[in-house]
Amino acid sequence: MSNAFLNTPIEYLKNVGPQRADVLKKELHIFTYNNLLQYYPFRYVDKTKFYKVKEINADLPYVQLRGKITATEMVGDKRAKRFVATFADETGRLELVWFQGAKWVAEKIKPHLTNEYVVFGKPNVFNGRFNIAHPEIELVSEENTVFASALQAVYYSTDKLKGKSLDTKGIAKIIKGLVSLIKNNIPESLSKEVMERFQLLPKEEAVKQIHVPKSPELLKKAEFRLKFEELFFIQLKLLKQKGLREKTYRGFQFPKVGDYFNTFYNNHLPFELTNAQKRVIKEVRLDMGSGKQMNRLLQGDVGSGKTLVALMNMLIALDNGFQTCLMAPTEILANQHFETISSLLKPLDIHVGLLTGSTKTKARRELHAKLQSGEMHILIGTHALLEDEVQFKNIGLVVIDEQHRFGVAQRAKMWNKNSQAPHVLIMSATPIPRTLAMTLYGDLDVSVIDEMPPGRKPIQTVHRFDSNRLRVFEFMREQIAIGRQVYVVYPLIKESEKMDYKDLMDGYESIVRAFPQPQYQVSIVHGQMKADAKEYEMQRFVKGETQIMVATTVIEVGVNVPNASVMVIESAERFGLSQLHQLRGRVGRGAEQSYCILMTSHKLSSDGKLRMDTMCRTNDGFEIADVDLKLRGPGDMAGTQQSGVLDLHIADLAKDAQILHAARNMAIELLSEDANLEKPENANIAYHFAMMGKERTNWSRIS
Ligand code: ADP
Ligand code: MG
Repeated sequence: MSNAFLNTPIEYLKNVGPQRADVLKKELHIFTYNNLLQYYPFRYVDKTKFYKVKEINADLPYVQLRGKITATEMVGDKRAKRFVATFADETGRLELVWFQGAKWVAEKIKPHLTNEYVVFGKPNVFNGRFNIAHPEIELVSEENTVFASALQAVYYSTDKLKGKSLDTKGIAKIIKGLVSLIKNNIPESLSKEVMERFQLLPKEEAVKQIHVPKSPELLKKAEFRLKFEELFFIQLKLLKQKGLREKTYRGFQFPKVGDYFNTFYNNHLPFELTNAQKRVIKEVRLDMGSGKQMNRLLQGDVGSGKTLVALMNMLIALDNGFQTCLMAPTEILANQHFETISSLLKPLDIHVGLLTGSTKTKARRELHAKLQSGEMHILIGTHALLEDEVQFKNIGLVVIDEQHRFGVAQRAKMWNKNSQAPHVLIMSATPIPRTLAMTLYGDLDVSVIDEMPPGRKPIQTVHRFDSNRLRVFEFMREQIAIGRQVYVVYPLIKESEKMDYKDLMDGYESIVRAFPQPQYQVSIVHGQMKADAKEYEMQRFVKGETQIMVATTVIEVGVNVPNASVMVIESAERFGLSQLHQLRGRVGRGAEQSYCILMTSHKLSSDGKLRMDTMCRTNDGFEIADVDLKLRGPGDMAGTQQSGVLDLHIADLAKDAQILHAARNMAIELLSEDANLEKPENANIAYHFAMMGKERTNWSRIS
């Protein structure tokens, strides 16, 4: 950035110097004044409010009290020595405790009849009484105005920072110092029109208020301004990318709906489409008929019927003389799609091929030839589709199932298979919150299937402790007796693979003991098995030859056995919410009442408890995704790693949906009027946008 002030290296700041600068760089990637100003507080404490002792409860994060010290005492021997002061106001008393620096505190704090102290800290319950460990404490005096300042910013710190006296207070101090230097140094990044429309604080004012708020109202305005700006520029970037792509790639135009589609639709559709399916098929059709290259995300909860929607659109590609392919994340899924689609299309004269890692060389060669000659219409497979030998005669539509398992780079590789780019439809069964979708996939168009096929009974979900396993087995027997099938799923997490594998095998053995042959047959599928062995076991279960499928999460995505009505998830506390929801989606696919049983040990963290409760409360994937986002933040959610979401400094996708919508709409409007940001009134925006790109590349080179 050409702004000298903002670009000033951090070591030049008062109270920083080379050593502290070094740890700021290493720990927080703070190199310049600008970086430091963007190190926003994560919360504020209201130091204008005073509690009374009797108002205290352990749920309060912090309290500020005013009163007297009535007694002090050094307790314990050398190692476990602690200093305890009795603090009292007119409503009661509590203990203040210091474990560290006890001697030093003892010097400073003395019982006194008239002197008043202000105490600030987090109340705890100990032996049925309240205390505060390591409170901030200060004698009330005329000149002592620290406690008069209203909202105080609290910053994250780390052990290494604390080692250089940069705890939250230390950081607050240097930032306050920096804020006091600001005088017309921070250029406005938004246009007058945008500022007026959303009544935004000027940038400089917002930056000051966010660190040193004069009032709660101003703080709110500052937060709004900075969040808006952050989200606005991300959206601007995504939308510009989209615009650029639309300019660069001409799309194939699929003007007609022809025989394949009509014959299938009129004569072979296995069931009435839901309204949501119809709507989405139309959205895709219009997009592919428009002449621009489609990049569309198809979101729909597990079981909402995405496959059929994809298939109908694939038929439109065929009707217009093009080939199409469908790429799945696992071999099991690719096989399953192949089976489903081949059987649906049997009455039509359409060639469907399957290509996976297991396809033998000879079959592979034949397939390659048929693709190049155009004899093969539809190719279904795994990553194998991306190999160089795979050349289509004229591919018009690429459908990608569960894209988050593939890198964006691979997607791009697909586009380049032809000089003209095929349309791309990405299907995702991972319901992600709208806000995250808009940020992750903001350069894509989005279609949502928000309606389940009729006749589905909501899955009943319960949480059971391991000690109830025999009862759970009993329930499984009842369900099997009325002809249903059961999944039992174990976690397999990379880091503890060996132990997980042992758990799986132990579990399998105990199930085989509890469900003995010949009355019961049990399948097992896990990642260490060969593909054909896996497939064999899967098929036994699909055909109903086995009643129980013991598996690791390989069955997570897409597998479809409508007769399976019970999903038992072992060590459910070890799964994330979206994974639990995915797993649960394996049942409830037929007309029967289905069940999901979440097994956990008695030891459950509060997050774990919330996850179980959420699963038991709702089947709505989007609601679950929202809770997931709140629990984990975007960093751990599928697909976020490659995106800019993690660069967010202040906006929170779990909370700021409205601001995001406003920012996106504003960006759309702006680009529709000034696509290249050339108008003079948008100069601020254009400048900031250009700088943003530069800054990112600079810092990524350093780190
Ligand atoms: P997903 O969206 O999870 O990929 P699928 O496409 O596998 O869902 O569909 C789930 C099940 O619902 C399949 O058995 C499918 O045949 C069935 N299905 C799809 N659409 C309908 C519909 N409109 N009416 C009834 N069943 C449907
Ligand atoms: Mg599917």
